[in-house]
Amino acid sequence: MRLFGRKKLVEPEPVEEVPPPTLPTPPEPNANGYRDWQAQRDWILDQIEPLRPFGMQLLDALGLSLCEDIESDVSLPGFDNSAMDGYAIQAADTKNASEKRPATLAVVGEIAAGAVADRALAPGTAMKIMTGAPVPEGADTVVQYELTDRGAEDVKIFTQMDVDKNIRRKGSDITEGERLLSDGDIIDARTIGLLAGIGIDKVMARPRPRVVVLATGSELVEPGLQLTELGQLFDSNSFMLAAQARAAGAQVFRVGVVGDDPEMLKQTISDQLVRADLIVTSGGISEGDWDVVKEVAPELGMVDFAQIGMQPGKPQGFGLIGDDETPMLMLPGNPVSSFVSFEVFVRPVIRKLMGVTPLLRPTVTAVTNTIIRSKPGRARFVRAGIRTDAGGRRVVEQVGQHSSHLLGGLQRANALLLIDDETEVIKPGEIVRAWMLDE
Ligand code: AMP
Ligand code: MG
Repeated sequence: MRLFGRKKLVEPEPVEEVPPPTLPTPPEPNANGYRDWQAQRDWILDQIEPLRPFGMQLLDALGLSLCEDIESDVSLPGFDNSAMDGYAIQAADTKNASEKRPATLAVVGEIAAGAVADRALAPGTAMKIMTGAPVPEGADTVVQYELTDRGAEDVKIFTQMDVDKNIRRKGSDITEGERLLSDGDIIDARTIGLLAGIGIDKVMARPRPRVVVLATGSELVEPGLQLTELGQLFDSNSFMLAAQARAAGAQVFRVGVVGDDPEMLKQTISDQLVRADLIVTSGGISEGDWDVVKEVAPELGMVDFAQIGMQPGKPQGFGLIGDDETPMLMLPGNPVSSFVSFEVFVRPVIRKLMGVTPLLRPTVTAVTNTIIRSKPGRARFVRAGIRTDAGGRRVVEQVGQHSSHLLGGLQRANALLLIDDETEVIKPGEIVRAWMLDE
């Protein structure tokens, strides 16, 4: 007997070639090689899924998008109660009462807020009642202290009362079963008050996106430290972008500066993926020799770099990286370019992750006081100061320089003017479109 038979030759199963996933086809560039900035933004937004909602404590949901319909389980007020400090009475007992000929009623009880009368109110009697206390059975009106002598045993009432005065009826604000809020509503302070008022302490909401911000550049120094060599400068972008992301509603993790070392950058981004719904980087995506983000990003997932027809912010990168295909927006390093790129691309992405609308800042119009020059070929985002004049008109009063490194001018601006790629000059008196940055 043969102990070892000949091994059977098994035909290897044909391995199906799975092509690596790729990003959808990006927008076509124009004749000058530039992609339209709005097409680029929409292309990115199409690849962003709103975050999954979960149940959270009421206060944690401030500013977030509600992900359920809310119907009230209770009526508000929950019972007929007094709107005044005064006396619960029967209106008929004050017939023809006046200053000179008051009605006098025996005070047979006292009802504080939270207390309940121990019996029904009989004709010819009064019960002292405090604001918010339940109106006793038998009473049909409340007379406020100011129209009485505030008596303790007997009370004189100096006016004829109509029925139903100073009583807040059960359900007059909210009725049980009423639909109060809908999926998609933004949870503001008033909404939180309403929810608490109907006894709700947790809601389903889309969470704040966790946004990791990091800056690249070996020349960058953390603010608070010393500049020790010529050529160094403080990292402003990671702070500014972090602040912009937080203002947009994100929970931000500012990683700070990573030098232009490819391995270090790759490791840092990979390490951050566990806590990121979105990664935002600044710098390292131009055509320079140390453009480390551009070098490393393709090793992390599906990425795309392009020249966008906008100024500032021409180079832009986008990717879906890591196992979870986490979105990553790679912005140029010049501070103003970074700022504008955030406004154009990152803010709408954060809002889409949050499930809030509108995704885009509203565009307003303003009349210019000054001449604005632009260079056709690319759209231009111009830093400007816009003021509302006495007539309620928005007026462009001052316009910053165009260079992308000018932090001072950026700080003084409160608006970005949107100049299209064909405009060369806008004269005083003409209308421009703008984004107000603080609204
Ligand atoms: P890059 O896009 O990396 O070539 O950077 C373009 C310019 O922006 C360079 O002059 C950088 O020094 C400057 N820059 C890059 N990153 C930052 C940053 N985080 N803070 C301030 N300036 C920066
Ligand atoms: Mg750099």
